[in-house]
Amino acid sequence: MSQPGVLILGAGQGGLQAAISLRQNGYAGPVTLVGAEPGLPYQRPPLSKAYLLEGKAEALALRPESFFTSKAITLRPGTWVDAIDRAARQIRIGSEMLPYDHLILATGTRNLRPPIAGLERALDLRTLADAAALRMALADPQRIAVIGGGFIGLEFAAVARKLGHEVSVIEAAPRLMARAVSPAMSRHFEHWHRAQGVALHLGQPAVAVDEGGVTLADGTHVAAGFVLLAAGVRPNSELAEAAGLATGNGVTVDAGLRTSDPAIFALGDCACFPDPRTGAPVRLESVQAATDHARLIAARIAKGETADYAALPWFWSDQGDQKLQIAGLAGPETTEEVVAEGVVARFDALGLAAVETVNNARAHMKARRMLASGSAAGLAALEELIAA
Ligand SMILES: Cc1cc2nc3c(=O)[nH]c(=O)nc-3n(C[C@H](O)[C@H](O)[C@H](O)COP(=O)(O)OP(=O)(O)OC[C@H]3O[C@@H](n4cnc5c(N)ncnc54)[C@H](O)[C@@H]3O)c2cc1C
Repeated sequence: MSQPGVLILGAGQGGLQAAISLRQNGYAGPVTLVGAEPGLPYQRPPLSKAYLLEGKAEALALRPESFFTSKAITLRPGTWVDAIDRAARQIRIGSEMLPYDHLILATGTRNLRPPIAGLERALDLRTLADAAALRMALADPQRIAVIGGGFIGLEFAAVARKLGHEVSVIEAAPRLMARAVSPAMSRHFEHWHRAQGVALHLGQPAVAVDEGGVTLADGTHVAAGFVLLAAGVRPNSELAEAAGLATGNGVTVDAGLRTSDPAIFALGDCACFPDPRTGAPVRLESVQAATDHARLIAARIAKGETADYAALPWFWSDQGDQKLQIAGLAGPETTEEVVAEGVVARFDALGLAAVETVNNARAHMKARRMLASGSAAGLAALEELIAA
C-alpha cells in the first residue's frame, strides 16, 4: 500500500509554504494541500492595499499552477474538510476519507462577528471574493463606515479615502490599533488619518447597522452607504476541538509546533504557540509567523529536526504612504520610548520587546537584527544603532 504522506489542511499562506518547504527539505512522499477557497493559493496582504486600487487578481497567486505539477503537490482547492479522525489518521471530506501520516492544520481565521444588530448588512475583507465585492462597491462615490480601527480597517480606510470616498472609522477602544501598537504610534496614525479627512470615532462601539449607516453606543448615527466589518478575527479551530485536540485561543501547540497529537501540527493564524522570548502563549496574525512556522514543521517532518520555534516576529502595515513596520512582539504591559522621529521602542520586564518604525526600513532592519541576536538591548544601544 502506498504511503499516505503529509496532508495540509488549509491552502493559504502557511499551508502552501509547508508544501514548498517539505519539497525543499527533500521530503519525497505524497504532499496534499486541501483548501476551501477556489483557485490557486494567494497572498492576502494586498487585498486591503494594492488589489483594491488595481484589481489585479492574477498578481496575488503565490505560485503558478505548473509549480504544483512540477513538485508533485496535489492541490485540492474548493474542498471543505468536515472532520479529522485521529484514531484512523484520516480526514473526512463529505463521504470521502483521506489518510495521512502527518497532518498540518493551517486553517487560518475568519471574521469575528460582534453582537451588533443588522450586522448581516456589513461587508467583510478576508478573502479574494470579499475584496472583489468591495472593489465593486467602491466603483461609485460612497459614504463608507468601517467598524474596527485595526490594521485591516485602517488600510481599507486609507485606500477608500484616496479613491475619493467619504470615510468614517468606528473603534470601540480609545485609540487606533490598540492591541498591537504603542500609544505613541496610535497617535501618529490618528493624526495622519484625520489629516487625510477620515472621520474617526474612538471609544465608541457600534451597536447597530441599518440601511443608512451605523449607530454608536452614545446614540451618534454615522451615515454610510455601505459598511465594512473589520473588528478582528476568530481562529478556525473547531475541527481540532471536535477531534479532541487541545484548543483555547486557537489550536494549542508546543515549542515544536506540535498539537496534543504528535502526528498533527498547527501553524499560522490558527495556532497558539509559546512566545520564544517570554514563554507566554501567543497567536499571531502575520505572514511572517505563518511562513516561519511552516518552515520549522516541514524540517521536522522531512529531516527529523527538533529545534524549538525561535523566529523573531515582525509585521508591516501599509496605510496610504505610511509604512508601519514592527520588529519583535510587545504585550500589554510595556513602556514606550520615542527613539527618533517615527521610531518607538517598547520595553517590558525582560527589556526591549519591540521596535515600531514608520517609513524607515533601515531602522526596522537594524532593530530586527538586534532583537534577533538576543543581545540584552537597552535604550542607549538602540539609539546608537539607529543613529549610526
Ligand atoms: C486583508 C488582509 C490584509 C492583511 N495584511 C497583512 C499584512 O500587511 N502583513 C501581514 O503580515 N499579514 C497580513 N495579513 C494577515 C495574513 O494574510 C495572515 O496572517 C496569513 O494569511 C495567515 O496564513 P495562514 O496560512 O495561517 O491562514 P490563511 O492564509 O488565512 O489560510 C487559511 C485557509 O484555510 C482554509 N480553511 C479553513 N478551514 C478549512 C476547512 N475546514 N477545510 C478546508 N479549508 C479550510 C481557509 O479557507 C483559508 O483559505 C492580512 C490579512 C488580510 C485578510
